[in-house]
Amino acid sequence: MTRLAQTIGLTEFQTEIVEAVRGFVDKEIIPNATELERNDTYPQAIVDQMRSMGLFGLMIPEEYGGLGESLLTYALCVEELARGWMSVSGVINTHFIVAYMVRQHGTPAQKQNLLPRMATGEVRGAFSMSEPDLGSDVAAIRTKAVRNPDETYTIDGQKMWLTNGGSSTLVAALVRTDEGADKPHRNLTTFLIEKPAGFGEVKPGLVIPGKLDKLGYKGIDTTELLFDGYVASADDILGGAPGQGFFHMMDGVEVGRVNVSARACGVGIRAFELAVRYAQQRRTFGKPIAEHQAIAFQLAEMATKVESAHLMMVNAARLKDSGERNDFAAGMAKYLTSELCNEVTTQSFRIHGGYGYSKEYEIERLMRDAPFLLIGEGTSEIQKQIISRRLLDEYQL
Ligand SMILES: Cc1cc2nc3c(=O)[nH]c(=O)nc-3n(C[C@H](O)[C@H](O)[C@H](O)COP(=O)(O)OP(=O)(O)OC[C@H]3O[C@@H](n4cnc5c(N)ncnc54)[C@H](O)[C@@H]3O)c2cc1C
Repeated sequence: MTRLAQTIGLTEFQTEIVEAVRGFVDKEIIPNATELERNDTYPQAIVDQMRSMGLFGLMIPEEYGGLGESLLTYALCVEELARGWMSVSGVINTHFIVAYMVRQHGTPAQKQNLLPRMATGEVRGAFSMSEPDLGSDVAAIRTKAVRNPDETYTIDGQKMWLTNGGSSTLVAALVRTDEGADKPHRNLTTFLIEKPAGFGEVKPGLVIPGKLDKLGYKGIDTTELLFDGYVASADDILGGAPGQGFFHMMDGVEVGRVNVSARACGVGIRAFELAVRYAQQRRTFGKPIAEHQAIAFQLAEMATKVESAHLMMVNAARLKDSGERNDFAAGMAKYLTSELCNEVTTQSFRIHGGYGYSKEYEIERLMRDAPFLLIGEGTSEIQKQIISRRLLDEYQL
């Protein structure tokens, strides 16, 4: 077996759906991605087809109208989507995290109300932890919800970097509530806020100012969110009880890390595919550059990195599916795959010579997309913090 990133032991359904997504990517995403990204256009037609393929409900249990599939199935589909265009995988990522949090931690009423509509993609999720002054240091969140005498909450503050902030209709927002706990993270609560898609004051006291302009990851909207006296109901608290938000979000981010890892695998595979093709077409000194050992060895290195990344990602997904704690494996997978993806993308760029710098070549987009993977769902430094803490626990003298 010399083709890269094959996964052994898949069920018939897993094989079928991954193949269907790969076919969809080759036919509908790769041919259109460059144009859509250049104009920063939301890929509406692609998203509509993803809805009809059931991808928004992939991991939502069948009793709520989803496909009830595993994290591994989801991650393998994300790997394929990101191979086509990373932004497309970003459309379902935050949705998947929010659906996962509702499934794991929601009250029966929240599950009943949200999951069937999330399974069809009618309700689309975004999640919001980051603020202008913090990203890694989640416990420092300042946006505040104050309980009113009638048991509602008034929320004030500014959130930052919401992927799908404008296009989503449900935001899981982590804010500070006063539970009297001495540890700051025990005073955090997740609110599930339904809103219309769009920009401006979409609900009284809730403003989505507009799209942030980014280096890459175009097409998909990334926004701020302003709360200015927004009134939420106590029923909007994920799980019903305040003070649990930090744990809910960390659980969501843990599966999110497998998802980012899958994206890194997808972008890396594409970078390799572009390089191995170009290296056989481009000729210097009378022969294809692939026949120069320096280039052939680069291809060997890239393929080895792509393969290792895939195995780490699959291992982390399988571990989570088995019910085992997977912060360690997810942290390692996220850290390694995002770093390897950046290395492979840069190697592919260099193999393209001057053309890699031209907007006409796909590798140019990958060079701008890949760095986000080093940051989203926790930077490499934060992953190393998680990994080293667990190591020092396990190997304590
Ligand atoms: C395109 C995009 C989309 C995003 N989407 C979302 C989203 O949907 N929802 C959301 O909530 N957030 C989102 N984010 C925010 C993202 O999660 C944060 O940017 C990320 O967690 C890093 O936080 P920060 O930018 O505040 O950097 P900081 O936390 O300020 O870190 C700055 C630097 O210091 C390092 N550092 C920080 N603390 C330590 C430490 N203890 N030890 C060593 N080094 C440290 C970091 O690794 C980094 O290199 C998005 C960001 C981007 C760019």
